[in-house]
Order: sequence, then structure tokens, then C-alpha cells
Amino acid sequence: MEFAERVQKLSPEGAYHMLARAQAAEAAGKSVIHFEIGQPDFPTFANVAQAGIDAIQSGKTRYTPSAGIGALREAIAAQASAQRGIWLEPANVVVGPGAKPALFFPTLALVRPGDEVIYPDPGFPTYEAMIAVAGGVPIPVPLREEEDFAFDMAALDAAVSERTRLIVINSPANPTGGVLSLATLEHIAALARKHDAWVLSDEIYSRLVYDGASAPSIAALPGMFERTVICDGFSKTYAMTGWRLGYGIMPRALAERVELLLTHSVGCTASFTQYAGIEALTGPQDQVQAVLDEYQRRRDVLVDGLNDLPGVRCRSPQGAFYAFPNVQAYEHDARWLADYLLEEAGVATLPGTAFGARGEGYLRLCFANSLDNIRLALERMEEALGRLL
Ligand code: PMP
Repeated sequence: MEFAERVQKLSPEGAYHMLARAQAAEAAGKSVIHFEIGQPDFPTFANVAQAGIDAIQSGKTRYTPSAGIGALREAIAAQASAQRGIWLEPANVVVGPGAKPALFFPTLALVRPGDEVIYPDPGFPTYEAMIAVAGGVPIPVPLREEEDFAFDMAALDAAVSERTRLIVINSPANPTGGVLSLATLEHIAALARKHDAWVLSDEIYSRLVYDGASAPSIAALPGMFERTVICDGFSKTYAMTGWRLGYGIMPRALAERVELLLTHSVGCTASFTQYAGIEALTGPQDQVQAVLDEYQRRRDVLVDGLNDLPGVRCRSPQGAFYAFPNVQAYEHDARWLADYLLEEAGVATLPGTAFGARGEGYLRLCFANSLDNIRLALERMEEALGRLL
């Protein structure tokens, strides 16, 4: 069958592929520990879930404005302003079903056929997909493990030119857990200003930063708000992946275009989901901190354990909930190793190559999983990997 060019290069997210394989192994009676999917293992906080239920029961089940309910856009503007030290109006906020629309639609609104778009490799697979659909030219720029998985700055400098329309960054990052320093952000901001490029800053993990640190936003740097789109949402921070709630923050004129794309594609985001979002932002925040503390404990156990495995070296991720160990000591590629660990150890991981060619030699493990499972997985991996080296 003949399809339009814009969909020909699309491929599935590697996580779904591995999840299907892991589930098939489980159906065949194998015990599998899941590190492949990137979502919180906690349920949605009870007060937030109740707000959604109340909304349904009180009949708040109709269309809403495409860009979101006014009270939610206000709550997002207030929270995001305080978090990032920028001044936002509700008109800068566009609510969507998940954070992904805040990646996809601004890209469709900004990128013209033939425009170059810079993005991290390894990086979240949706970046490549949205660039392809927009007709842009994908320019992957490698990340460097030695620099805490920031861009290879020399490669970035060489890649950005007057043809660059958009630079996609992600901090804290999926799949590496890297957090970009202020100095790195200043460097990227200077490039964007010099070449009159936009920045799409995926900050979906911005509230999952460890050791009491925080992830600065490029939007807060001088001259950057007018050329930056922030993508953020509720999926990770409030354990709401299935509710589908996220948002983009952007200059007003772009927000109006993105709102039109929402109007004509999804119409609006589920109304009761938005009411739950208001409760998430304006209700008590102590559960966010409690979950973050728990992730940090798990990170420490997993990363220490990985570093004790034969042939494995792992930096401690500063944010998000992914460990990205280096397994280049093995003669096998990452895909082979991920398959081997599933078959031989019952541990489902993702090969780094699910996130781009430069992910070769790495695995991604999501540590939104119990300490017991993490310890058991480490034991099983030690045994299975020990047979290879
Ligand atoms: N950006 C990154 C880096 C992600 O890891 C994810 C979720 N896996 C998203 C965006 C999308 O989030 P949502 O499910 O809210 O659309």
C-alpha cells in the first residue's frame, strides 16, 4: 500500500516492542522484572483521582476550550512561573492530552519543509517522529557520557547554522537521566539567539531531580522566552500517565496556532482529567516529595548494584527515573544484550539503540520499581552476565 511520505519513516517506540516481548515471556510462565517502561509504579495520588471522579459525577463531562479550562491554565501559569522564575500568563499555556501534543504541535507550527531540527541522540523517539511528520531535516547531535550526557558541544556548534529552525533539548533526560547545567543552557541559548532558532525544551521530568538539586530552564535565560517552547505535564510528577494531561508553555502568538491545531485534531483534552489536574497543582505537594525520595533510594541501590556487575559502568542519573549503564565491555550489541537479559535473567530492559544510533553500548533501566524487584534483578543479572565475560 502506498502511504504519504510523512508517515513512511515512522517506527514504533522500542519500549512497546520490549513490553510485548516481556509479556509474551510472562504468558509462557516466566517471571519477568520490568525495567523497560517509563512510568511511575505508584497509583495516581488519591486526592487527584477523587477530583476526577467528582468532576464526572457532577456532570463536568462536556467539551472544554481547546487550549484548556481557564482555571487549569491559570494554575499551570502560576506553578510554572514560580518553578522557573519566569512570568507567565494563562495565554502562554496550552493544555493537551499528554505532554506529547506539546512536542508535536509546536513542531508542526514552527518547522517548514526542509528546515533543520537539532535533537539529542540518544533521545526520546518522538523527537525524530515529529520532525519527520513536519517535513523537517533531522540533525541528531550526540550526547557525551563523560559530560553527564550533555551534547557534545563541538558537534553541536558544528551542527547549528542559519538553516536550523529548532533545537530540541530534554533535561532531565530520557533515556540518560542527565541534567543540563546552567553553563550548557547558556551555550545553547547563545547559539539559538545567534542563528535565530527556536528551542523546544522538554521538561517533563523537571520535578524529578535528585540530591536536592533543580533543573534550570532555558526559557528563563535572557532573550529566550520569546523563542522557547516548554513541554511539561502531569504523567511523571503526579503518576497520571493514563489520564493524558500535559501542556506547552510558549509565546502567545504561537500558543494561538497550537490551539488551532488542537481544535482541529483532538478538539480538547478530557474535561474531568483537567479538573484532576487542577487538584494536582493546587492540592498538597508532599506526595510529590515522598515519591521523589523513594525514587532516589531506588536509584542509589540500582546504580551501586549495576556498577558491581561485571563489565558494567553506570553514572548516577541526576534526574528522571532511568539508569543508562554502559555495557561496551561486552562483545555483543545492546539489542542482543537486552534480549539475552530477558531470556536468561527475566529482566526486561531497553537497548540504548531504541533511542538512536548513539545509544549503542548502553541499556536503559527504569527504576520506578520496588527495591525488592531491583535487588532481585541485580542478582539475576549478575548471574547471567557472569556467564558472558
Ligand atoms: N517527553 C519525554 C522525554 C518522555 O519520556 C515522555 C513520556 N515517556 C513524554 C515526553 C510524553 O509524556 P506524556 O505521556 O505525558 O505524553
